[in-house]
Amino acid sequence: MKITMIGAGYVGLVSGACFADFGHDVICVDLDENKIRALRQGIMPIYEPGLDAMVTRNAEAGRLLFTSSLQDGIKDAGAIFIAVGTPSRRGDGHADLSYVYQAARDIAAAATGPVVIVTKSTVPVGTGDEVERIIREVAPQLDAKVASNPEFLREGAAIGDFKRPDRIVIGVNDSEAEAVLRDVYRPLFLNQAPIFVTGRRTAEMIKYAANAFLATKIMFINEVADLCEAVGADVQEVARGIGMDNRIGSKFLHAGPGYGGSCFPKDTLALLKTAEDQGVSLRLVESVVKANDSRKRAMGRKIIQAAGGDVRGKRIGLLGLAFKPNTDDMRDSPSLAIVQSLLDAGAEVVAFDPEAMEMAKPLMPAIDYADNAYDVAEGADAVALVTEWDAFRALDLARIAKSMRNPCLVDLRNVYSRAEVERHGLSYTSIGRP
Ligand code: NAD
Repeated sequence: MKITMIGAGYVGLVSGACFADFGHDVICVDLDENKIRALRQGIMPIYEPGLDAMVTRNAEAGRLLFTSSLQDGIKDAGAIFIAVGTPSRRGDGHADLSYVYQAARDIAAAATGPVVIVTKSTVPVGTGDEVERIIREVAPQLDAKVASNPEFLREGAAIGDFKRPDRIVIGVNDSEAEAVLRDVYRPLFLNQAPIFVTGRRTAEMIKYAANAFLATKIMFINEVADLCEAVGADVQEVARGIGMDNRIGSKFLHAGPGYGGSCFPKDTLALLKTAEDQGVSLRLVESVVKANDSRKRAMGRKIIQAAGGDVRGKRIGLLGLAFKPNTDDMRDSPSLAIVQSLLDAGAEVVAFDPEAMEMAKPLMPAIDYADNAYDVAEGADAVALVTEWDAFRALDLARIAKSMRNPCLVDLRNVYSRAEVERHGLSYTSIGRP
């Protein structure tokens, strides 16, 4: 089948490349001409493990094309996926749907034959209805079916998640769109990935409910970590102890600096906005959002305290800036709030991230960027491990201790053990552990 992917970002590019890898003919359309030009030369716009090779392989086989012309892109498409961004709208936290609606208008204006339009972007309940209305307004004669197919991939593990999903959710209000999507996902169905077909509004809701639940799980263990610190218990063992209960499950129970990234922060806000518009209260999710915001700032204070309480003129090193390892995505990363609180307190900040520094520089122009973890430690009064990249898991602690002005490690991801760190002469602060 010929598949069109509108938006060649983290989701559109990965999904498009994976569909091509399954043998479909895929064309990715993006407004950003520089991105398209680079992709045609085999240059990836994002860092995602394995993506480079997969894109090159499928582009060379002629199954994966790139264009900035929507008209060319949607010609003869069996399914047109919308995978454009839905960031938080400035001011009110609602999902900004302008890119989705623009894509719908552009498709309606350019399409000639029957089309199946599938929203892969994360969109509030009722967006499919509005996309349908826009299409009817722009092209009343067009035979168009609109479906929802929310994406659950995680950055950093996106290809594996896409190819071996826990489930594929298809939201449709008609059998034709369902048949097309079953065809699109047939290769995965053969791999026994469960396909869950439901109504369009329900599919849209599933995505938000999933993200809000995961965000809640993260914040739950983070608050338990605070209590563990107060009472002298070990949050990692608590997490293991509760995670062995199948009703709870062990995933998303890692205490840390709070959630960030391009999804949880904006999706929890958008869900709250939908609830508010409907006069429904989601007090749990409201608390999660508030607790996460204050947690990120609290992490800055934690580092300041570990460095002696006054960091004016002191040098603080950060290991990792991306919101999680194996991605260069800086959107809503906890490091942004941490850096701001350190700068506000008068510290000098130096950081290193294996992949995210190019994305970070325009967002944090006032800090220094080092070439590696050891340069971060050089002359520093404290080093904080912010993102648990593998490269930071087996650092030469003796070398770090020797090069620091004040040997102090703040481990916001609980990667190290106190005994190991202290053995090398560093003071040690972690999250929720005695
Ligand atoms: P992104 O910002 O990386 O990519 C969006 C792309 O769409 C950009 O390249 C932009 O130029 C392009 N674009 C915007 N309007 C366009 C138009 N009219 N025509 C063609 N291209 C257009 O965004 P992303 O992270 O890939 O997220 C896309 C959607 O998927 C969002 O709704 C997001 O919530 C959802 N999602 C993201 C992830 C993730 O991990 N990033 C996971 C699941 C779901």
